[in-house]
Amino acid sequence: MATYIVLLGPPGVGKGTQAKNIAATLHLPHVSSGDLFRENIKNNTTLGNLAQTYINKGELVPDDVTIGMIRERLSRADCQAGALLDGFPRTTVQAEALEMLLVEFGGTVNHVPYITGTESTLVERLGGRWTCKAQGHTYHEKFNPPVKAGICDIDGSDLYQRDDDKTETVLRRIQVYFAQTAPLIAYYRERGILFEVDGNQSIEKVTADLLAVLEK
Ligand code: ADP
Ligand code: AMP
Repeated sequence: MATYIVLLGPPGVGKGTQAKNIAATLHLPHVSSGDLFRENIKNNTTLGNLAQTYINKGELVPDDVTIGMIRERLSRADCQAGALLDGFPRTTVQAEALEMLLVEFGGTVNHVPYITGTESTLVERLGGRWTCKAQGHTYHEKFNPPVKAGICDIDGSDLYQRDDDKTETVLRRIQVYFAQTAPLIAYYRERGILFEVDGNQSIEKVTADLLAVLEK
């Protein structure tokens, strides 16, 4: 049966960083809804143009649009054995839609690592984040700097600061997280598949804590 893992946690807590660290070990593709939206924005698609109006304000993209995009992604060949989901679901409607989708794909959500972090940590991490243009690898100017400033260590592409990492948008994204996404903590806890990992630790320690459970 296919394995689906949902990485839960507030914006900036380190979901993308961790997903990139553990996807290969778990033999699962990293499916990030934020990366998929940014890819669409880069390619100037209709979906990208619509999503951008919400992303720039720190709001969630409407559920139907987001669910449709994820359905298409999960139906591709590389997701046959499962996926490591990062940034999706973000609402209860999305979580319910995911359950239905996975019935169709012959799988279920097996684990939900919930990475925790204080608000001041999130603001500091997002304020110093630099993202790679080619593949979305992320760095932090203080906590995880690239070898050469402004250049991705992995693929050599330029790094940029996301528009939605501006302080006022970050604060809105955190509010939206508490209002719309935090209810998923109880949703998955009730299903007995949630486990907490302290995100206020080094990147390496968070990776080790995640793998200690997920590799079992
Ligand atoms: P998310 O995907 O949850 O929004 P990211 O993985 O993009 O978060 O991380 C946000 C920022 O914080 C990035 O600049 C990243 O390099 C940095 N970061 C991630 N994890 C840690 C950590 N454990 N300690 C310090 N900085 C971190
Ligand atoms: P992220 O890369 O996960 O930080 O997401 C960036 C932005 O994309 C979010 O602030 C939302 O505007 C949008 N987004 C990403 N995932 C979702 C989702 N599951 N539902 C709605 N909007 C999303």
